[in-house]
Amino acid sequence: MIETSSFDFHCHVDLYPDPQKLIRECEDKKAFTLAVTTTPKAWRQNLEWAKNCKYVQVALGLHPELVGERFNELELLELYMAEANFIGEIGLDGSSRYKSSRESQQKVFCRILELSALTKKVLTVHSREASVDVINTLETYMVSDNILGILHWFTGSITDVKKALNIGCYFSINHKMLSSQKGRLIIQNLPLDRILTETDGPFTSTKNQMIFPYDTKTIPRFISEIKRTSEEEVLLAIRENAKKVISHVI
Ligand code: MN
Repeated sequence: MIETSSFDFHCHVDLYPDPQKLIRECEDKKAFTLAVTTTPKAWRQNLEWAKNCKYVQVALGLHPELVGERFNELELLELYMAEANFIGEIGLDGSSRYKSSRESQQKVFCRILELSALTKKVLTVHSREASVDVINTLETYMVSDNILGILHWFTGSITDVKKALNIGCYFSINHKMLSSQKGRLIIQNLPLDRILTETDGPFTSTKNQMIFPYDTKTIPRFISEIKRTSEEEVLLAIRENAKKVISHVI
């Protein structure tokens, strides 16, 4: 794999003030960045911005929060599916604000998983207040070795964590998880060989500053403190995991 300085497996590059500038910075810094999209309408533009990139990869998505108003874009997503190696942001959101679209969310999620099982795909999955349903649904479709699932900013229970590990999921860890009690407990329960890093930028911050993909560099040290191991060991594990995940599709 190409030499890489950091790994961000979930970043909304197209929601930053100047996405093209950010993409150039990631390339210059050799910062691997998975640029997720929230609607299939954004796919082509993101692909165009990242077309000569070595370090920035684009993911095709339909965010569960948007399924209520954009259910009809599922057709467009189906159309682009064959071009995409990475899929996200997808998943389910069980919070009260999106309850009314819960049934449509499930339909969209299942359809995407059904199509993902046809050829090799890496998925970055949202599961806020829906971790049980997300994992049960993933379990059905991850019978196919074609799907490699990454649970992004996971906030479910330790029982859910164990089940997700059993079906082969990876977990991408961001700064917010490092500072919350629940996040730290989840990290304690994750084996090193399933850990990746992410920002979920620009929706998260560090020290009230806007976060950038290359800021994931500071995460391994915190993980090493939580897991009482060396930073070296965590860095090495993340590098190995990233290599496995990326080489699943590239
Ligand atoms: Mn996100």
